[in-house]
Amino acid sequence: MKTRAAVAFLAKSRLEIVELDLEGPKDGEVLVEIMACGICRTDAYTLYGFDSRGVFPSVLGHEGAGIVREVGPGVGSVKAGDHVIPLHTPECRRCHSCLSGRTNLCTAIVATQSQGVMPDGTSRFSYRGRPIHHFMGCSTFSNFVVLPEIAVARIREDAPFDKVCYIGCGVTTGIGAVVNTAMVTPGAKVVVFGLGGVGLNVVQGARMVGADRIIGVDINDAKEEWGRRFGMTHFVNPRRIGGDIVARLNTLTNGGADFSFDCTGHTNVMRQALESCHRGWGVLVAIGAAEPGREIAAQPFELVNTGRAWKGTAFGGVRGRRDVPKIVDWYMSGKIEIDPMITHVLELEEINRGFDLMHEGKSIRSVVVF
Ligand code: NAD
Ligand code: ZN
Repeated sequence: MKTRAAVAFLAKSRLEIVELDLEGPKDGEVLVEIMACGICRTDAYTLYGFDSRGVFPSVLGHEGAGIVREVGPGVGSVKAGDHVIPLHTPECRRCHSCLSGRTNLCTAIVATQSQGVMPDGTSRFSYRGRPIHHFMGCSTFSNFVVLPEIAVARIREDAPFDKVCYIGCGVTTGIGAVVNTAMVTPGAKVVVFGLGGVGLNVVQGARMVGADRIIGVDINDAKEEWGRRFGMTHFVNPRRIGGDIVARLNTLTNGGADFSFDCTGHTNVMRQALESCHRGWGVLVAIGAAEPGREIAAQPFELVNTGRAWKGTAFGGVRGRRDVPKIVDWYMSGKIEIDPMITHVLELEEINRGFDLMHEGKSIRSVVVF
């Protein structure tokens, strides 16, 4: 069949809207019509050439929501007509990691996914007879996609695609980091560095679980209003305080944060986030993706003898097939907000503008509706 898609033919290029050929689902695979997709910083990071493992040409996009249109042989957990969210972090329920019950980092298809191909080593997309790669096992910048069955979460049918597509990455990453990775406790003092599409979800996750003090840090003053809208209680712009950010945060938290989150991807910020944690128990959760080759530095005493901890998280520690439907419920029942964070709704032809808006710091989330 044919599908309309935004293709990244080369790193650092503009996306091109073309019609691709798409092969149908094979064993254990499903064909999904993507109804809406979000543009995440991670797409930009690959498109702008920062990810040394990025493969081109490819169909980027890893946030989306849609409808199963066809299932391949052996598929049992979903059927045509089911509403789904594609999972860049799948859940096979069979690999060592899934069975450990201690992580969401399913390893079933990790090797082929990172090479931009399906589990059988081939691509379902082609253009003029030449294969086009998949991206993060999702490629939601295409109207139709083929996905492994283990990489879709079935969701309720009354959930609007143009909102819940954001649960495919940003919302879940931020809220999951609070609930699963940090396990933020009621009454906690939380510091969030970077109030973008992910950081604002950390803020609203911290509000949801009952944190007392939620301090947002951003170099863009316009983010103060955004943070407050979702439960932030204090705002600091490190460029405006004329002093040390860690000292300022120590004052605001009476000695250190119980939990701090890096949602910027800058390694110097990760260090500040560690140093702003409370001695004895403070935990830094690093969410931002740093450029390859960068290293995180800290004085050993920031950890050793002072009992701070440094943790990473991917997709908020969420097990997609089990937990994503629950997060959709949280949205539908008003526990979390999504609508105001979707600042721009675009057509596929306008997708490059979505990248520009993010680059200029003018959007929280741009969503493309097919
Ligand atoms: P974004 O661009 O929307 O937000 C980043 C924010 O950080 C902006 O508001 C910016 O002004 C602020 N910022 C930049 N430099 C800063 C500094 N020095 N101090 C304080 N604030 C600063 O990006 P996003 O979509 O929210 O993504 C955030 C990060 O999370 C990215 O690195 C992205 O790749 C990563 N990410 C990780 C996962 C995961 O599973 N671990 C998932 C999605 C995204
Ligand atoms: Zn993402």
